Amino acid sequence: MNAVNTAAKTRAARLDADVVVVGAGPVGLLLAGELRLGGADVLVLERLLEPTTESRASTLHARTLEILDARGLLAGFGTLPHDPRGHFGGIPLDLTVPGPYAGQWKAPQTLTEARLASWAADLGVRLLRGHEVRAVEPVEGHVDLVARTPDGTDARVRARYAVAADGQDSTLRGLLGADFPGRPAERELLRADVSGVDVPDRRFERLDRGLAIAARRGDGVTRVMVNEFGAQPSPDRSPGFATVADTWKRVTGEEIGHGTPLWAGSFDDSARQLAGYRHGRVLFAGDAAHRHLPVGGQALNLGLQDAFNLGWKLAAAVRAEAAGAHVFAGTLLDTYHAERHPAGRQVLTSVRAQALLLLGGPEVDPVRAVFEELIDLPPARRHLAGAVSGLDTRYDLGGDHPLTGAPIPHAALRTGAGTTAAVTSSAALLRAGHGVLLDLTGDDVHGERLARAVAPWAGHVRHVRARAAEPDAERLNVVGAALIRPDGHVAWAIGPDATPARALAAARRALRRWFGPPARSPQ
Ligand SMILES: Cc1cc2nc3c(=O)[nH]c(=O)nc-3n(C[C@H](O)[C@H](O)[C@H](O)COP(=O)(O)OP(=O)(O)OC[C@H]3O[C@@H](n4cnc5c(N)ncnc54)[C@H](O)[C@@H]3O)c2cc1C
Repeated sequence: MNAVNTAAKTRAARLDADVVVVGAGPVGLLLAGELRLGGADVLVLERLLEPTTESRASTLHARTLEILDARGLLAGFGTLPHDPRGHFGGIPLDLTVPGPYAGQWKAPQTLTEARLASWAADLGVRLLRGHEVRAVEPVEGHVDLVARTPDGTDARVRARYAVAADGQDSTLRGLLGADFPGRPAERELLRADVSGVDVPDRRFERLDRGLAIAARRGDGVTRVMVNEFGAQPSPDRSPGFATVADTWKRVTGEEIGHGTPLWAGSFDDSARQLAGYRHGRVLFAGDAAHRHLPVGGQALNLGLQDAFNLGWKLAAAVRAEAAGAHVFAGTLLDTYHAERHPAGRQVLTSVRAQALLLLGGPEVDPVRAVFEELIDLPPARRHLAGAVSGLDTRYDLGGDHPLTGAPIPHAALRTGAGTTAAVTSSAALLRAGHGVLLDLTGDDVHGERLARAVAPWAGHVRHVRARAAEPDAERLNVVGAALIRPDGHVAWAIGPDATPARALAAARRALRRWFGPPARSPQ
């Protein structure tokens, strides 16, 4: 570990922020906003002086759209191009799943980052650009960080917690010596954005010598991606445009070497995942926690979902520690690894299968042929679409209700009556980043009891009485009442015919488990 220097060690304890987020990529920015919604004081340290303009991930999946909707962020994206189809390892896959956001949505990563940055700034996140974190030292009850500032001096920061959202070559991962097991690269996909070339569009074309993909954008720039079957990955991940153009020529027979490269690079199929997402007071999210071939938009979406899981928990842990509830804080934070590590492992497995189907040579052709038959069978298609979209991510939270651990289905809701009648949605209920005890019982007496049960957690959980409305009312017909966490996952639920008295006791247990000791005793 690269320790903070002695002067920092001997200085009196100083708290510069509740949480320092290292990295202002999409994951760090979403996380920072979530922390602010939960009331934490957040400082983001970012190495780059300006946001990157690099052309990176462009696909958002259904669960990510739900997350953005839950915080009211979708409007800022404008009308996004949408395709109900995606692919699995280059084999076309119909992504239709229940809900309003099925399919792939195209948003340049620069737009996603700009939208998240302005939302986070509006919420009061402090972002220091040109600050590269170079040292980290956990100290009792805090974590100290040292960052090199734009004028070449070092700044020292102390926080209760730090989050490494510092990307695939994570500095904090190295500084902490975090175990990052996995598989080395066996294949690579060369990639370049080129202007001044005129080649036909190709969607996952497997030719005799390799795989070729070409897509011309509206601004005339063509993105080419190519894999020559059997070629070894380059050791430094920066092959240069000449290598991309030569490989393209060998695989397709087309010349692109005369074009102007805007960017050239490569991705490999190495697959690694941190053994632990939490190292004491340092937590890892996004590419810092997992590395895999960024195929089909999975990398960005997985990272955003990490941030959405961690933000409210870390903010709650900070509040709980301030109130002396240390055991609750630690237990809640441990659920981040318990929930997101398996979710990441599942994506890594899926991506490795896709990498084989996509980048394997003629030896995988028979497997592809069988896969092409299977992928059209409804249960197989539904299974893969649920996984790729992120909608089938379900945490193991115990409980026997079919929705426990799953994201609350997106559905329209009616609240109030007469002059207070309103139409809302399960996503809109989450706008403030609080938990929701959604009460669909339609029973006044039971509703009053549930409202009283929630009262000690006021400010963090609210009780909402509603009726499911068309067009998707049937998606909630298994619910009498549900405790929804700020990340939209159902922590506890009962069916419409549950016994009220037992339900009340179970609701209180769930409230304690996820929102900590009550501020005042339940009545
Ligand atoms: C060229 C390219 C193309 C890609 N294409 C796709 C794609 O098509 N589909 C897909 O799903 N994914 C793609 N990805 C991956 C996708 O961009 C990432 O999954 C996503 O950016 C992860 O977000 P993040 O916030 O975890 O990390 P990043 O976006 O990498 O952000 C990390 C931030 O941390 C900062 N940082 C790093 N070290 C320090 C430090 N020591 N101190 C302070 N700041 C630091 C960095 O400057 C950066 O801003 C692509 C990535 C690249 C590079």
